[in-house]
Amino acid sequence: MAEAFDSYTKELFDALFEGTADSADVPGELKDRVLSLFENAKASENLTQPIVDLFCALLEAAKSYKASPKAFGIAYDDLVQLAKKHEEVDEHHVTVGGRVMRALPIVDEANKRVEEYLKLKDEVAPSGIELWDKILENQERIKRQLGMTDDDWNSFSGQLKFAINTVEELAKAVLLPEDAIRDVARVTKHYRMRISPYYASLIMPGKINDPVLLQSVPTGEMIDNAGIEIPPVAADHSPARLIDQFYPRVVAVKVTNMCAMYCTHCLRIAHIGKKDRIYIKEAYKEALDYIRKNERIRDVLLTGGDALMLPNQLLKWLLDELLRIDHVRMIRLGTRIPVTVPQRIDDELLDILEYVNDQKPVRVVTQINTPQEITPVSKEAFKKISKRVSAILNQAVLLKGINDSKIKMWKLCEVIQEAYVRPYYVFNCSFRNPQFAHFRVPVEVGRDIIESMYGNISGDAIPRYIATAGGKVPLHRSNVMGRKDNNVVLRKPWDGSIVEYPDADPERYYCDEKFAFRKYNWK
Ligand SMILES: *Cc1c(COP(=O)(O)O)cnc(C)c1O
Ligand code: SF4
Repeated sequence: MAEAFDSYTKELFDALFEGTADSADVPGELKDRVLSLFENAKASENLTQPIVDLFCALLEAAKSYKASPKAFGIAYDDLVQLAKKHEEVDEHHVTVGGRVMRALPIVDEANKRVEEYLKLKDEVAPSGIELWDKILENQERIKRQLGMTDDDWNSFSGQLKFAINTVEELAKAVLLPEDAIRDVARVTKHYRMRISPYYASLIMPGKINDPVLLQSVPTGEMIDNAGIEIPPVAADHSPARLIDQFYPRVVAVKVTNMCAMYCTHCLRIAHIGKKDRIYIKEAYKEALDYIRKNERIRDVLLTGGDALMLPNQLLKWLLDELLRIDHVRMIRLGTRIPVTVPQRIDDELLDILEYVNDQKPVRVVTQINTPQEITPVSKEAFKKISKRVSAILNQAVLLKGINDSKIKMWKLCEVIQEAYVRPYYVFNCSFRNPQFAHFRVPVEVGRDIIESMYGNISGDAIPRYIATAGGKVPLHRSNVMGRKDNNVVLRKPWDGSIVEYPDADPERYYCDEKFAFRKYNWK
């Protein structure tokens, strides 16, 4: 009988019947357990698990006590029957040997790769959902300190009105050491600071280098770093007013220089620099004219600053203009507002998004750099947006101390995915601005982090790793090691093991005159 089994099941039977120990050598407890599993396996009609459980227990007994099934009074033929039943019941005819000798050990081995992450993720990189109680305490303190009512807190206008712009307001709202406050005073003479009270409430008091603090409160480095600023997009990439263009078919329109929170690592620090500006209609009209005249342009990204700083009517006007341009097929909105002031996401805006998305796909492109930015409130905002647009994509920036470790980046990608946002890009922080040179992370460190995600988190939670260098250049490591005859030698990114992958037959690909329907007689 057993001759009909596959090699894994043979291997399993050999391992089970190798032992010579007798019944007396096996602890009574194990004996009872095996016999009860045996009865279960025989009794169950349509189940595979009781059979697997029995064979696992027997294998354990063989390994630990050199006891064969005979020591339990279980006959060889009984096990053959059970093994056959397993193969018959299983939809894919997986054998019990395959399951016990191969699949389970492979899964066990793979599990080790995520053990450290699962143990440490919530401690090393807590989400704003996990920290919510603490954040609520911060909210109460900040509301009191800034004199805000609940209505102020829950409205976009209230969040902007009470935004922390000065070192005095900062000292009230965020508990910081005196020398840090002195440095902020020094830096804010040159660079603006703006932190919405909501965003400030995500900062954990007393935590040195809190990932939200780092992104929003400037430090001395911003003015002390040596170097000369290179404008983020030089004149040679701006063919028309408000437009940045790297690619023939995708353009960005910088519709405002305002943001609800000014990031300490802002690539556009030169644009958003000093004071908020409302642009005149002519500026938008010239940008729209450029898009209208260039029929190659297919995808238009409205960005800033932050596109959602525009009032709803102005945004709707711009979007309507884009809807009317036939060759514009896709629209994107760049915004950090769902994490900096989620109160902005009102029904009127959501209706506009749905109205546009019904005609041309709209994607919202956001920037979330730490899971701490995902709270029940921002998650709710993303959920509402996700029902009205075709996708929400995240462009994170790789930043020292904020997300530059495997655990922090995996957690970020998983938490945002659970908040209806798809990881899209991770940018290596730009070389262009000395103001944030202290946040830069070596390209190789980012490669190790991104590559470590393959095979260990959902594939669609893995972002592309990018250098912005006059367009976006992928930084991924190649896993193609070379060729051996017609095989491609591949390295698995999750464990470094090598596999040979047979390539397509070049003869067939290049020379097959009779491919598919070509062999038939067409008139
Ligand atoms: C990022 C960016 C785009 C969009 O690039 P994708 O790779 O299509 O996401 C377009 N224009 C500018 C100026 C950009 O910075
Ligand atoms: S949201 Fe974007 S544009 Fe605005 S400050 Fe942050 S990085 Fe700069």
